[in-house]
Amino acid sequence: MSVQESPTTGDRTTMTSIQFHNTLSGQTEPFVPLVKGEVRAYTCGPTVYDFAHIGNFRTFVFQDVLRRYLKSKGFRVIQVMNLTDVDDRIIQKSAAAGVSIREYTDKYIQAYLDDRKSLNLEPPEHIARATEHIDDMVELIQRLTAKGFTYTSDGSTYFRISKFPAYGKLSKIDVAGMQAGARVDVDRYDKDNARDFALWKAPKPGEHFWETPIGPGRPGWHIECSAMAMKYLGDTLDIHSGGVDLTFPHHENEIAESEAATGKPFARYWLHAEHLLVDQEKMSKSLGNFATLRELFAGGHKPSSIRFLLASVPYRRQLNFTPESLQGAASSVERLRTFAARLRSGKFPAGASASITDRVAKAREEFDQGLADDLNTAQALAAIFDLVRDVNTAIDRGEFREGDAAPVLAVLEMFDAIFAVLRDDDAEKLRAFGIGGDSAAPGDAEIEARVAEREAARKRRDFAASDRIRDELAERGIILEDSRDGGVRWKRK
Ligand code: AMP
Ligand code: ZN
Repeated sequence: MSVQESPTTGDRTTMTSIQFHNTLSGQTEPFVPLVKGEVRAYTCGPTVYDFAHIGNFRTFVFQDVLRRYLKSKGFRVIQVMNLTDVDDRIIQKSAAAGVSIREYTDKYIQAYLDDRKSLNLEPPEHIARATEHIDDMVELIQRLTAKGFTYTSDGSTYFRISKFPAYGKLSKIDVAGMQAGARVDVDRYDKDNARDFALWKAPKPGEHFWETPIGPGRPGWHIECSAMAMKYLGDTLDIHSGGVDLTFPHHENEIAESEAATGKPFARYWLHAEHLLVDQEKMSKSLGNFATLRELFAGGHKPSSIRFLLASVPYRRQLNFTPESLQGAASSVERLRTFAARLRSGKFPAGASASITDRVAKAREEFDQGLADDLNTAQALAAIFDLVRDVNTAIDRGEFREGDAAPVLAVLEMFDAIFAVLRDDDAEKLRAFGIGGDSAAPGDAEIEARVAEREAARKRRDFAASDRIRDELAERGIILEDSRDGGVRWKRK
C-alpha cells in the first residue's frame, strides 16, 4: 500500500498511518474507519451528580485531543457524548436536596459545560441526556427480551449474561464457573462480581420513575449508552472511549446489550485512558482526594496550564498529579506564547533560510509521527519544544529571516489545533468563573505583542496609533516606560 494513499486518513494524505491501542484486541492497530473519511465516535460523559474533578477531565481532554487529531487528519468526526442524569447517586442526592432530578442535574450539567469551555474542549456533535432517551432504552430492552436475553424479577429486567457467549471479550474476565442467575442491581461493581445486570430497575418507594410498556421504573446505567450510541451513530461505531475504570462492567455490558440486540459488532476500536493519580491513588470522589477545576482556578492556576498538563502525558500512561507538575505546565505554555509573540512581532532581516525550512519540515514530521503513534502527545510536544529551542538559537545568532516566521508560526498553528493553549485568554476565562474580575489583566505574551506593535507604529511615525496602544494598556494596568536607549520596558501597576 502506498503510504500517500493510506485509507486510514480522511481527505488529507499523510506519511504515517494512524495507530491506536484497541482494548478489544489488546493490540495497537492501524486505525481504519468503517466509512472512508468519517469517524463515528462515542464518548462516555459524566454522571452529573456533582462537579467533575480533574481526574474526569484527564479522560475528557484525551477525548478532545483524539477528536481534534482526527479532524486535523481530514476526517469528518461525528461524536456523541452522553450525560448520565439518572442513577443511584443522583436519585439519592436530589431527594436529599428536596428537588427534582431535573433541577438537581441541570445545575451540574451547566457547570460541566462551563468547565469544558474553559479547557477548550470542543463540543461533540450530539450531547445526549439519558432522561431524554428513555423511549430508546425501553425499545432496546424490548428487542433484547424478544430475542430471549432478559428475564424479570420483582419488576426489574435483567440481562442474562450466560446467553451471550462473548461476554468478557473486552475486559478479558473469565466467566467460566460463575454462578448462573446471580444478579446485581447496582451499576458499578467489580470483575469478581460479574453477574446478570439490571437493564431496567423497578422503582423503590418514593423514587422517581417512568411509566413505560415494560413497567414503571428507571433505566440501568449501561443501557443508556448502548441505546444512545446506536441511535445517533448506527449499530456499529468506529471508536468508543472512556477511562479504564469503565472497561468493566460498563463497556462489557454495553457490548453485551448492543451486540445481543443487533447481532453486529458494536464498537470497532475501544480506547481507554489511564487514570490521573494523586500519591499513587486514583483521583476519585469516594477517596476524597479530588480537585475540581474551580478549586484549582481559585488557587491561581490557569485553564491553559491544566489543559496542557492533562494533554501532555500520553493517555495510556498514568498521570501523577502534583502542584509542581501544574507549575511546569504553566511555564511550558508561557514559553510557547512568548515564542509565538517573538515571531509575530520581531524584526528579522529580509529573505528566508533553507536551514529553517528543513528544520520546520522535520518538526512537522516528528509531531505527526508522535500523534499517529497511539496519540503519543509527549513525543509530539518534544518535536515542538525542540523546534522552539532551535529557532530561538537561530534568532539569537541573527540567522533567522523575515520569511522564516510564517512557516514556524504555521507549525505552532498545527500544534495548537490539537493542544489548544496558545491563545492568551486565561484571564478572560477566569473572569467567567468570577475570579480576578477587577481588571482585564493581559498575559505577558499579549503585552509583549502589543508593545512590539506600538514600536512598529512609532517607527512608521504613526504616533496616534502608538499613543492609542499605550493608553489601552494603561487602562488594563500596564505601564510603559520608554528608556533613553530607545527600548521600552513595561510593568504592571
Ligand atoms: P463518571 O462521571 O464517574 O462516569 O466519570 C466520567 C469519566 O471520567 C469516565 O470516563 C471515567 O472513566 C473518568 N475518570 C474517573 N476518574 C478518573 C481518573 N482519576 N482519571 C482519569 N479518568 C477518570
Ligand atoms: Zn457509557
